[in-house]
Amino acid sequence: KRTSPGQDEFHQAAEEVLHSLEPLFEKYPKYKDNKVLERLVEPERQIMFRVTWVDDKGEIQINKGYRIQFSSTLGPYKGGLRFHPTVNTGIIKFLGFEQIFKNALTGLQIGGGKGGSDFDPKGKSDNEIMAFCQAFMTELHRHIGSTTDVPAGDIGVGGREIGYMFGMYKKLANVYDGTLTGKSLKWGGSLARTEATGYGCVYFAKNMLDARGETLKGKRCVVSGSGNVAIYTIEKLYHLGALPITCSDSKGMILDEEGIDLDLLKELKENQRARLTEYVKYRKNAKYIPVEDYPKGRNAVWSVPCYAAFPSATQNELNLEDAKELIKNGCKCVSEGANMPSTNEAVEYFVAEKIAYGPGKAANAGGVATSQLEMAQNAAMISWTFEEVDAKLEQIMYGIFQRVSKTAEEFGEPTNFVLGANIAGFRRVADAMIEQGII
Ligand code: NDP
Repeated sequence: KRTSPGQDEFHQAAEEVLHSLEPLFEKYPKYKDNKVLERLVEPERQIMFRVTWVDDKGEIQINKGYRIQFSSTLGPYKGGLRFHPTVNTGIIKFLGFEQIFKNALTGLQIGGGKGGSDFDPKGKSDNEIMAFCQAFMTELHRHIGSTTDVPAGDIGVGGREIGYMFGMYKKLANVYDGTLTGKSLKWGGSLARTEATGYGCVYFAKNMLDARGETLKGKRCVVSGSGNVAIYTIEKLYHLGALPITCSDSKGMILDEEGIDLDLLKELKENQRARLTEYVKYRKNAKYIPVEDYPKGRNAVWSVPCYAAFPSATQNELNLEDAKELIKNGCKCVSEGANMPSTNEAVEYFVAEKIAYGPGKAANAGGVATSQLEMAQNAAMISWTFEEVDAKLEQIMYGIFQRVSKTAEEFGEPTNFVLGANIAGFRRVADAMIEQGII
């Protein structure tokens, strides 16, 4: 039953989970009897607020702010903040809902939440970014805390934004603790957090391929996006001897058959905050394809022949036609760095084709898992080395892979990791909810 009108992405995420849970409900009626899913689709608390700030011209600007605290069954609400003009309640709810199961899959004690704003950071001065972040925190601070709700970054929210928000949080709350993750290494951040989502997504792909006796070594890989997740996916692919040949942003894509120049990409995106059109000025053999030239209704990244694909930009960036094209061109593995990048029809196609398909809630859980490692270090007032954190991340991704694949096997569909991820994540939360009573 669609009870949240206009929230298409939320319904899309909920329907996918609901569909996967049917075999679980059949085998164990207690989950149905306890109405666990009906309870879970209603967030515990939804906060919507006004964010008012003044731009460089002295004009008053008004944005919408959100924090949706979905489930605290397994621990403090945990999930990122997204600043993007497309943000609305349906987007934040889909992300928060997915987060519950993703966080459960990590095996750590973290609940699910998500937040953000329709604020568009593009083209804003540093001063405007700070003004917005501070205004956003003047409301958010009263709803969060190191054992209550711990936000992190997402699209449009990186180290700079976390810094401005933490500064304001600390001032208003009069505490210095791990209430935000993704902090700078100079004042409480964790080594390897920046890299974690991308690295984790490649570790997940490696686990899927190891189980099939296959490898990424020497293979052509395509990546979409050119933000935090895409950059560190590309980096880890190189570590494993693969050849990442694409990246993209909302205006177009790069095809670099010799392999994406990672140093150049980092310089352009992390330092200069430039568009990808700049990339081809330095790499003469690379090709830039603007979105206007993409095949109609398609994303051109998925037309490039490859062995493995890593969607790392945004939701619904890969549809059924894209999925068919990928597989037609020989793609054997899709590991999702982004949240819900594939439409439900594309997901069904990957599952039916029995390729190594890692859904986002499993494959990109390395980011939130490492955020929890940041919380642990903050609480203990210690810092681990990069190698220690990376080793824990690799182990956590292996644990997620095990949970997902064993559950898929238990329900008679060993290659269906959508089923495996949804049931394994749901079951951990559901068991805890039943034990904690009707609240
Ligand atoms: P960033 O803001 O760092 O980068 C986002 C990238 O995706 C940019 O290249 C951006 O291009 C592109 N993009 C965003 N929106 C669109 C769109 N509507 N159409 C086409 N391209 C788009 O974000 P992240 O790398 O952090 O996040 C990417 C994905 O990974 C998201 O789905 C996020 O939820 C997910 N994720 C992130 C985690 C993290 O730790 N950061 C953890 C788990 C999941 P442009 O600059 O032109 O907008």
